[in-house]
Amino acid sequence: MPIDATLPYDDDNVFARILRGEIPSNRVYEDEWAVAFHDIAPQAPVHVLVIPRGRYVSWDDFSERASVEEIAGFVRAVGKVARDAGHVGPGYRLLANTGKRAGQEVGHLHVHIFGGAPLGPMLA
Ligand code: 5GP
Repeated sequence: MPIDATLPYDDDNVFARILRGEIPSNRVYEDEWAVAFHDIAPQAPVHVLVIPRGRYVSWDDFSERASVEEIAGFVRAVGKVARDAGHVGPGYRLLANTGKRAGQEVGHLHVHIFGGAPLGPMLA
């Protein structure tokens, strides 16, 4: 069920719980800014999610409120995961569903990384 990404951050969302270690995840990378783990329902041979450690509902929220340091740290982490962790590359696709109309289901910013094989054309 897509969420209303204009609502305030909910500390009980599933990725907040993964960050706190309350529910398990298959982590492939973590640093000061980000944590990456395999998606529970992969939509590609390799499907990894990268989330910031900060409390941001969506890409909109993150790009507006995060500090330049957080943004740089997060973007670098996404690049590292795509290149080096989780057997994603070479060649991959990034996606950040933002808001109800895009089908965002979890209210903590996450970037999907799809890879592990040649990917078909993007379907909107
Ligand atoms: P969205 O539709 O919000 O862009 O993507 C949410 C993603 O989170 C989906 O691909 C879904 O499979 C994944 N997901 C939902 N719950 C869990 C969970 O508990 N663990 C993991 N690893 N992935 C989850």
